[in-house]
Amino acid sequence: MLVGGVELGGTKIRVGRGTPDGRIGESETFATEGPDKSFARIVGYFRRGSPIAAIGIGAFGPVAIGRDDPDYGRLRGTPKPGWRDFDIGAAMAVLGVPLLLDTDVNVAGRAEAALGALRGADCGVYLTVGTGIGGALILNGRPAPGASHPEMGHVALVRAPADDFPSVCPYHRDCAEGLASGPAIRRRFGASLDLLPADHPGHALIAGYLGQLLAGIVSIAAPRRIVLGGGVAKAAGLHARVREVLARSLNGYAIYPEVEAPGFVVPPALGDDTGLAGALLIAGEETGRSETRVG
Ligand SMILES: [Zn+2]
Repeated sequence: MLVGGVELGGTKIRVGRGTPDGRIGESETFATEGPDKSFARIVGYFRRGSPIAAIGIGAFGPVAIGRDDPDYGRLRGTPKPGWRDFDIGAAMAVLGVPLLLDTDVNVAGRAEAALGALRGADCGVYLTVGTGIGGALILNGRPAPGASHPEMGHVALVRAPADDFPSVCPYHRDCAEGLASGPAIRRRFGASLDLLPADHPGHALIAGYLGQLLAGIVSIAAPRRIVLGGGVAKAAGLHARVREVLARSLNGYAIYPEVEAPGFVVPPALGDDTGLAGALLIAGEETGRSETRVG
């Protein structure tokens, strides 16, 4: 049996088919356009080729993810132009298969918990730094329940001295996403972090903000490990710089053995497959459920 997966990102979309345990068989990637065009391509992909039993989607948020929420599958107040209130469930209904939806980071966190760096952790965090900043709190393999999904990227940070950069977040002056996401970095420096010279002060500034964010997460959730992924996190040396700032920010307090281990802040073990593998996994859970019901 095959299931489908969609990784709906702010910059690109990856669609694919694979097995319910998260193994990717085939996939395609294309640039994110407006919602109508993007979903026409997604639906077109699944209409071609082998049939699938269910589709899982990891979507950027904010998005309604409670299955008993009448708005399930609808994007909420996203700052992305044209996407506000877009109904993903309605756009995919034409395919006639069950649709499972969660945030991109919850889905990626599940994949890392099932197959990657968070395996065996009773409490772990998956944080992505790219077009936006988002985090998932994963407890025993599943995203922590709650009234909505966490918005870790919108925690307010203390600005570096003399940093008067206008936040790119339309909601907050000093949040992590507004100060240190991919779009903030490009507006600050005219280039992405990985393209700046090794001695550019931008590396320390961005690592400073991300380390501060991680210190907050450690103080609140005490995770065993933090997976730091996304396009910005691919810049050489970033993980090491963030670990240094994290240690400095905690200043000896709230330290437990895992925090001091070199493997506390790591890249995703599944690399670029994390999001799509997680989308297949949530679709796979649904097929498992329906098989149980039928049996
Ligand atoms: Zn914000």
